[in-house]
Amino acid sequence: MGSFHLAAMTLKSLFSKPETLQYPAEVKAPYAGQKGHVVNHVEECILCGMCQRTCPCHCIQASKPERAWTIQPFMCVQCGSCVAACPTHCLVMDPAPTAIATAKHEVRQEVPEQEKAAS
Ligand code: SF4
Ligand code: SF4
Repeated sequence: MGSFHLAAMTLKSLFSKPETLQYPAEVKAPYAGQKGHVVNHVEECILCGMCQRTCPCHCIQASKPERAWTIQPFMCVQCGSCVAACPTHCLVMDPAPTAIATAKHEVRQEVPEQEKAAS
């Protein structure tokens, strides 16, 4: 690489916007189809446990006795298997990344009783 080319690159970088962001103060907008984190719209959840059985990381628990659905977000590898397996499509992959935290934690959601279909 010639010294002229190197000088041109240096000058260009001095007057162009940096490629890096001041994360977490600045966050890059998610791209289409980005697998950020799993969200459960629990009003449609039937606590069938398919997501729990499918998850390769064992980070989901679906408890019918407790009527609770729980995920450990920092164990999730965003593979999307649980979303594909959910029979009611109440699980979705939100493109935003998991919210930052200083400690591991679980997200527990109470699952409401499903209304019986009118006969
Ligand atoms: S697979 Fe879907 S409906 Fe079944 S427990 Fe998981 S989130 Fe609920
Ligand atoms: S996206 Fe994959 S790793 Fe994450 S909870 Fe679903 S099945 Fe488990």
